[in-house]
Amino acid sequence: MKRRYLVALGLAAAVIAVGMMPYSHVTSTSSFASGTALRPFAGAPASGQPAPVSLAIVRTSAKPVREAMIVSGGSWSRDVTVSMSGFVIRHGDKVLAFDLGLGSGIDAQYDAEMPMWARPTFGYARPVDPLAAQFVRAGQPLPEEVVLSHSHWDHGSGLEDFPQAQVWVSGAEMAFIRTPQSGAGRPWMSQVGRPDIRWQTLAFPDGPFLGFSASNDIFGDGSVVALPIPGHTPGSLALFIRTASGRRFLLVGDVLWNAGELRAGQGKAWPARALVDGDQAATARAVRQLMQLSRADPGLTIVPAHDGDLQARLGLFPRWID
Ligand SMILES: [Zn+2]
Repeated sequence: MKRRYLVALGLAAAVIAVGMMPYSHVTSTSSFASGTALRPFAGAPASGQPAPVSLAIVRTSAKPVREAMIVSGGSWSRDVTVSMSGFVIRHGDKVLAFDLGLGSGIDAQYDAEMPMWARPTFGYARPVDPLAAQFVRAGQPLPEEVVLSHSHWDHGSGLEDFPQAQVWVSGAEMAFIRTPQSGAGRPWMSQVGRPDIRWQTLAFPDGPFLGFSASNDIFGDGSVVALPIPGHTPGSLALFIRTASGRRFLLVGDVLWNAGELRAGQGKAWPARALVDGDQAATARAVRQLMQLSRADPGLTIVPAHDGDLQARLGLFPRWID
C-alpha cells in the first residue's frame, strides 16, 4: 500500500512539474507588453462618420451534450449544442477577433496537454474548421487584432493561426498566464507560451458602462466596448457590440456556458463550476450581474461562448450580423 501511495504521489508531482515547466519559458522569452498600449485600435483615424459595425459568429466545432451537464437545473433527457466559437467584429475597414475557438493545431495541443482524467469531460468534435481557414475560404480579410475573453485552451487554440496579429488580454489575465500552475483550468503553454505571440495589455481606462465599473471603448465611439468580468479566470473580460442596425450583443466568454443558465439563475451545473471556475464566488457574482442586466435590458442579447443553439439562431459565419 505504501509503495502504491508513493508511486501515486510521485506521479502527481510529475504531473504538476510537467504542468509548470513551460512557464519559465514564458517569463523569459514572451514579448509581454509594456502596458503603454491600452486599446487595440488606438490612433485609428476617425472619419467623422460612424463606422458600420457587424458581427460574425464563427463555429469551429460543436457537439451535443446533456443539458444537465452544462446548466444548473438542466434536463438529463435533452441535449444542448456546445460549440467552440470565435467572434469577429468588422468596424469600418478594421477587423477584430474576440476569441478564436479551436485552431488548426488543436489535435497536437490536446494530445500534449489535456490530462487523461479530464478527457472524458473536456473534449471536442472533429472535424475542426478553424476560424482562419473559414475566413480564407470566404475571401475575407483576417483579423489584425485578437482579444481573448480569457486564456483557456478552447479560446486560445487558434493563436498559432494568427502569427501577425497582436493579442490582447487584460493585465490580470496576463499575470494568470505567467503564473506557474496545474489543474484543468490552467492555460496551455502549447498555445499561450509561443515566443512569437505579440502580447498587449488591454486596460480599462474608460468609465462605467452597462453597470460595469470600468471599460475600454475600443474604437472610441461606444460601438465595441471591453468590460472586466473576473471569476471564471482572474482576468476574464466581456465584449459589448452595437451593430450598424442598432442590435446589441454582450459576448461573455465562459462566465456562462449557455444562456439557459440565466433563466435557471445558478450559472453552470455545479460539477462544471467546481472544475472550471477559478473563483466560484466571483463567478456567481458575475452571473447575478448578468441576470440583472438581462432583466433590465431585454434588448441586449447575452451570448455565451459555447451556446451553439443560441449562436445558430443568431446566424453563423459566413453570414454577418449587421
Ligand atoms: Zn474557460
